[in-house]
Amino acid sequence: MSIYNFKAGPAALPQTVYEQASKAILNYEGTGLSILEIGHRTNLFQEIIDEAKGLLKELMGLDNAHEVLFLHGGASTQFFQVPMKLLNDKATAAYIDTGIWSSKAIKEATLYGNVEVVASSKDKQYSYIPKQFNIPQQTSFLHFTTNNTVEGTQWHTMPTNKGVPLVADMSSDILSRQLDFNQFDLIYAAAQKNIGAAGVTMVVVNKNILGKVSRPIPTLLDYKQHIAAGSVLNTPPVFAIYTCLLNLRWLKEQEGIASIEKINHQKATLLYNTLDALPLFKTIVNKEDRSKMNICFFIENPTIEKQFVDVCTKENIVGIEGHRSIGGFRVSLYNAIPLSAVEVLVEVMKNFAQSCI
Ligand code: PMP
Repeated sequence: MSIYNFKAGPAALPQTVYEQASKAILNYEGTGLSILEIGHRTNLFQEIIDEAKGLLKELMGLDNAHEVLFLHGGASTQFFQVPMKLLNDKATAAYIDTGIWSSKAIKEATLYGNVEVVASSKDKQYSYIPKQFNIPQQTSFLHFTTNNTVEGTQWHTMPTNKGVPLVADMSSDILSRQLDFNQFDLIYAAAQKNIGAAGVTMVVVNKNILGKVSRPIPTLLDYKQHIAAGSVLNTPPVFAIYTCLLNLRWLKEQEGIASIEKINHQKATLLYNTLDALPLFKTIVNKEDRSKMNICFFIENPTIEKQFVDVCTKENIVGIEGHRSIGGFRVSLYNAIPLSAVEVLVEVMKNFAQSCI
């Protein structure tokens, strides 16, 4: 029986990742050991982390100035680790507020110094991406969220021409589309959507921006120390990193980001076209800023919304409820979701809309 899981995260991974990961729990590569008992300072794990980093570098086309790290604490830890390490006492951190996750990042940054919100779309329920803004003098970095998981907006043109170090939270659209990743000085992404299993956070950092802040940094929050220790400063989440490796191998087999981007585009286009054609479903997101990863919509009548969830559940479609803060629906179309799953969903939507007439 197929379950169509459109959850925003932890999200569905490719079937092959589940199969290989479960085999590795019983017997990792014929060693007689479970992946769960493999020491992080063994050659076996070193090979896993080296290959995972190498694949990320290759898939993202990273240059030698950019290091890949696997860290603990989720993307939320990066909300404070970034300003702790990059916000200079006498400078300002510029933030763009495009939703619940950016505003959480802003709140944490204020613990470390001067923060200026240079643009915000809060005035219209975060339904658009603000494009006009200026950067204050003496800015340590500009932070933005490339895809707003809760509100369903996405930056389609990056604010890369501002002449300041660029920091991006890419938790919900990393590896989903081609970008010049070397334009960013720091990228972070929780793994549990497009990278692998929950429990690990990927950070890509340009080594040249480190070492400019004088405040004392706890060892485990210091990117430099993690780089020196090759992401094994303490015990890393071995199994979560292994699932990342399996998923990255899968992505490479799909011919990488360029090819998955085409499929992601087809999936999102199919769903948005369906929404636009069916007056029952409403969206508030500005058309040009629509996310291809998290598609948010609602039905004006709460009773009918509930009926739609029930109909979907009967068809084995799960995980479509919107974030608890805004309600409605959210369909997440990360890399592992095949076009065929979206085809099933849109058929259900069409039939349901027809039955409501
Ligand atoms: N940023 C974004 C854009 C997110 O979607 C999320 C939620 N997955 C987070 C940050 C927080 O991630 P975590 O739960 O791993 O801290």
